[in-house]
Amino acid sequence: MKVTEHLKAAKQPLFSFEILPPLKGKSIQSIFDGIDPLMEFKPRFVNVTYHREEFIYKERENGLLEKIAIRKRPGTVGICAAIMNKYQVDAVPHLICGGFSKEETENALIDLHFLGIDNVLALRGDSIKTESTFRPHTDGHKYAVELISQISDINSGSYMMDDVQLEPTDFCIGTAGYPEKHFEAMNMTTDLQYLKAKVDAGAEYIVTQMFFDNKKYFDFVNACREIGITVPIIPGLKPIKTLDHITFLPKFFKIDYPNALSTELLKCKNNKDVEQLGIEWGIAQSKELKEAGVPCIHYYTMSNSSMVKAIAKEIF
Ligand code: FAD
Repeated sequence: MKVTEHLKAAKQPLFSFEILPPLKGKSIQSIFDGIDPLMEFKPRFVNVTYHREEFIYKERENGLLEKIAIRKRPGTVGICAAIMNKYQVDAVPHLICGGFSKEETENALIDLHFLGIDNVLALRGDSIKTESTFRPHTDGHKYAVELISQISDINSGSYMMDDVQLEPTDFCIGTAGYPEKHFEAMNMTTDLQYLKAKVDAGAEYIVTQMFFDNKKYFDFVNACREIGITVPIIPGLKPIKTLDHITFLPKFFKIDYPNALSTELLKCKNNKDVEQLGIEWGIAQSKELKEAGVPCIHYYTMSNSSMVKAIAKEIF
């Protein structure tokens, strides 16, 4: 079933979560171990992130440097198929522009279609460590809106390959939104205009970047509605877990902590204190969002489901 169908059928806010493929070399069991504790809350869909390859340079005996491609977390498509098979729950693979030519994107979508996966979250992806800014594949997409257009095209039967007859796909397309603005955007106004362009190109719902201040989400939803974005906007929440997260999350995801949270974080002496606060804050945020009638609350597990479980227990 499509994410939008789940949202339409829901009588109260749904529970969903995102997982990361395991580090290369780990078994699929590590994924199941992360999902099993959350199944009691009846997620209608589970997102699986996509991690593109990075490049490293290794010095050879002759002194020359060899460029080597490594993918630390491969397997998004296979993991989605395994989740659907084991849990009979819909899986939402993330598909990114970075590292993909348009032809490779088309092939990836054909593979997903064959596997019966009809949901996809379409993203641009970030720059890799060796790039200062995002650089698309020479024959790829620069922005998520172009990827969404390509998916919409094959949904209407328009493929790049014209030598074989392929049936139209029926992907439900999600896209990303940023209540605190995407870090590269000139301002909130342009960011919202580009978000609207993604919806106009075929995105049927939005999942937000994590935020810790619900007011930012509510303001974002209002601003979206004002410019004519009518699709469901799913809030994304991440529980803070460690002392390191206190600086890492704002730095990496370009988000702020509200004063009430930073005041409490300053009192934390160890990871245990942060984890307890993270659960309490997550519960409070979730309660308010649920009362406001959001369509679904989406949790970023970041390979750790115990905190999400502790929050979900109080909410779903
Ligand atoms: P876009 O919508 O393309 O926007 C990127 C920037 O360009 C924005 O500043 C926007 O304002 C601007 N822009 C957009 N369109 C145009 C245009 N036509 N002209 C000029 N400027 C424009 N990354 C991964 O690598 N793998 C994942 O699995 C993953 N999952 C994610 C899930 C969620 C819910 C979210 C919120 C993010 C995720 N990301 C993931 C991170 C995401 O790839 C980055 O935030 C990336 O920098 C932007 O992606 P986007 O799809 O929002 O890009």
